[in-house]
Amino acid sequence: MSNDIFEKCTKFTAVRDLQTAGIYPYFKRVETVQGPVVKIDGKEKIVLCSNNYLGLADHPKVIEGAVLAAKQYGTSCTGSRFVNGTNDLHEKVERKFAKFVGKESAILFTTGHHSNLGALSSLVGKGEFVITDKLDHASIIDGCRLSFGGEMLRFRHNDMGDLERQLIKVQSKGTSALIVIDGIFSMEGDIAKFPEISALAKKYGARVYVDEAHSLGVLGKNGKGTGEYFNMEPEVDVLMATASKSLASIGGFIASRSEVITYIKHTARSLIFTASLPPACVGAIDVALDILQDEPERRAKLWENTNKMKEGFQSLGFDTRTSESPIIPITVGEDMKAFQMCAMLFEEGIFASPIVSPAVPEGQAIIRTSYMATHTDEHLEMILDKFEKVAKQLGIIPGGSIRKKMAKSSYNIKNRRWNFSFSDNNKFAAATKRWLKNLWFTK
Ligand code: PMP
Repeated sequence: MSNDIFEKCTKFTAVRDLQTAGIYPYFKRVETVQGPVVKIDGKEKIVLCSNNYLGLADHPKVIEGAVLAAKQYGTSCTGSRFVNGTNDLHEKVERKFAKFVGKESAILFTTGHHSNLGALSSLVGKGEFVITDKLDHASIIDGCRLSFGGEMLRFRHNDMGDLERQLIKVQSKGTSALIVIDGIFSMEGDIAKFPEISALAKKYGARVYVDEAHSLGVLGKNGKGTGEYFNMEPEVDVLMATASKSLASIGGFIASRSEVITYIKHTARSLIFTASLPPACVGAIDVALDILQDEPERRAKLWENTNKMKEGFQSLGFDTRTSESPIIPITVGEDMKAFQMCAMLFEEGIFASPIVSPAVPEGQAIIRTSYMATHTDEHLEMILDKFEKVAKQLGIIPGGSIRKKMAKSSYNIKNRRWNFSFSDNNKFAAATKRWLKNLWFTK
């Protein structure tokens, strides 16, 4: 054991290894607005890794909403919601959100992550249980870890038998439980089995908390999320949503019965001990919420793009796993192959992100692709062409293209800019794994 607390930093080689190999995919420097195409290092890239589902991040009216709010309320609230940091715009947007999702009341946190930290640690008290799906988002895990004396149980992803086993454990202790699920799971893109989960919750007297980060604006006829999609809105006891995806801003909502919101408002440390969401961000949410409701054609286009891409990838022989949403994972295999594929795609003008173990099972690394209403047919065709080209080079799909257009092209491996071979796999993989294992907090 070293006596220098920085020794772990000196030994942290994963990033350096990946950078030297030319396959480091993180912290890319975007030089433009977050549209379907961005510029990085002066070159255009089609974006496949954003959560800008409705394409509102560069919408002139949303930008104007942000500017007007900054002019009226200034750049910062300089304090907590609890003290001086609540203004009438925060409360207007909370009322608008609660009305939209059909709940009595809502509270706006500074980020989606803060919402999960605050609401979960506040709702799950000493001797009580929170039951999470194993693929729930990291911010849910963090919220559970912050509970003082609450216990966390986890069930296998979307496995109702395993959920029931956990509920029976809670029942045997004679205490209460909150089941927490993502509506759309952020990596696999599949939808929670909400009707079954709700039925089990009723059977065992538990409450259900749904994280609609990826489903708000996406699922349901009016974009209200998982409850609306299954026609079971009242069965969602607590609805959490971020403003950083379909709503093209930042912030996080918790919506529920008034007494629940009052309780969270007065006990959630991540609300009380941090500064409130700046006016510009609230102004953007205000307008984005209107557009989400007034322009259903955006959601229709998002689904048209999603369906086209799912069919396109599948017809090329890619494995799109259990995706049922605009998040479409593409199975690549080994972790390092996913890093390399992203580097190759980047050279080809596609900005995509690798997801490797332990976020996904070992040997099942993916490229997580996600779509926007504002991707054009031309963008989508190009994405499929480039994936096909690169995946054939890497042996992820067999040769012999069924996309005739691409039959002639070949990837010039000699001119590649990265310095990587699969013999390096073990070296990089071990260091990268250590890093990501800690980051993802898997048990
Ligand atoms: N929940 C889920 C399911 C998410 O995917 C995310 C962010 N990716 C969050 C919560 C946190 O939201 P935010 O980025 O707005 O803090």
